[in-house]
Amino acid sequence: VGDGERIDADLIAAWMRASAARLAAEADHLTQLDSAIGDGDHGLNMQRGFGLLGAELEGGERPRAAGPLLIFCGRTLLAKVGGASGPLWGSFLQAGGRRLGEREAVGPEEFGEGLEAGLEAVRNLGAAQAGDKTMVDALAPAVQRLREGPFADLPVLFRAAAEAARLGAHDTIRMQARKGRASYLGERSVGHEDPGAASVAIVIDSLATTVG
Ligand code: ADP
Ligand code: MG
Repeated sequence: VGDGERIDADLIAAWMRASAARLAAEADHLTQLDSAIGDGDHGLNMQRGFGLLGAELEGGERPRAAGPLLIFCGRTLLAKVGGASGPLWGSFLQAGGRRLGEREAVGPEEFGEGLEAGLEAVRNLGAAQAGDKTMVDALAPAVQRLREGPFADLPVLFRAAAEAARLGAHDTIRMQARKGRASYLGERSVGHEDPGAASVAIVIDSLATTVG
């Protein structure tokens, strides 16, 4: 997919569909994580939202350029994903898409800038800092890794970002939640992986799989 080292709308659509498949396969696991420190709906929220997005991408009209397609995906997730995750994922993709602008395809550096803008939007909306045990703890290291290159090798770059997200999600196990429902548990939130960080790791891994 995609055109050499360019990220185009086809690649983004393939990424979203791969994410939908992986989130569906891992929905029970994500629900278990959210049952331990939340209300147990995260697996279903993500499976439903990305599933509906995947279906919309299969059929019919969608934007042909990378940025507008990301905005389209963000708008769909905002409308379809329940819980805290809907607005957070919606903002991430919409802000990322806006940063990419109208060009049909972008290079890996610009793509990284887009996802960085998305991360900024998530931070603005949720006010979570690093270490608060949220999706930010997986997303921030992934975006940071993406900004480092190598920009001439998408599979290597995306695989490294996926690994950073995975390690970031794993690191939330030792953290005490300071944002979202899990924060109500105080110290009892320690010892469990944050479900939102786990699903970020799945989505970024799906990005790597899409080009790998
Ligand atoms: P809800 O908490 O409404 O049930 P979900 O279960 O779908 O929504 O999502 C929970 C996840 O959302 C958490 O694991 C966390 O990663 C993320 N989250 C919650 N609040 C915030 C926040 N303020 N900033 C960033 N991420 C957050
Ligand atoms: Mg929940």
